[in-house]
Amino acid sequence: MVFSPLCQLNGGCMGCCGHDFISKEKTKEAIDKNTEEFALIPEKDERSLLTFRDRAYTSDLRDGVCRNLIKKDGCFLCPLHPALNKKDLRIGHCDVNFLCDTAKKFADWDEKKQQRFTFFIESRKLDNISYSMQMSSGSLLAEFTR
Ligand code: SF4
Repeated sequence: MVFSPLCQLNGGCMGCCGHDFISKEKTKEAIDKNTEEFALIPEKDERSLLTFRDRAYTSDLRDGVCRNLIKKDGCFLCPLHPALNKKDLRIGHCDVNFLCDTAKKFADWDEKKQQRFTFFIESRKLDNISYSMQMSSGSLLAEFTR
């Protein structure tokens, strides 16, 4: 499983959890609907989580957003993630090794440049949906390197 420190900034990035995001409002609505559907699961055991996951085909996104992405305490999370389960229940459903171009470039930079990019992100004071959309589109990287 690959990971970048950028995935944890700004309340967590959900840029990998979908594509062709329509708008910030539509993305928020989609996550809210997913969260409502998740709340209807009586048990949060592996079997129920897999039933939740498989209620829609992997490519059947909700306005560009993965139907498994939910919200808890203001942060985004995937209930299938191995950090929350004994197993990685995302396997076979999404590309668990995906890294956006920004995260790949960030990994190649030296510590000073990484720190400058982190400060740059913090200075933008983005909410987590805007941050995610701009990470995913590469627009933050483009602005930083301009
Ligand atoms: S879009 Fe990039 S920064 Fe965001 S979660 Fe994916 S890899 Fe991490």
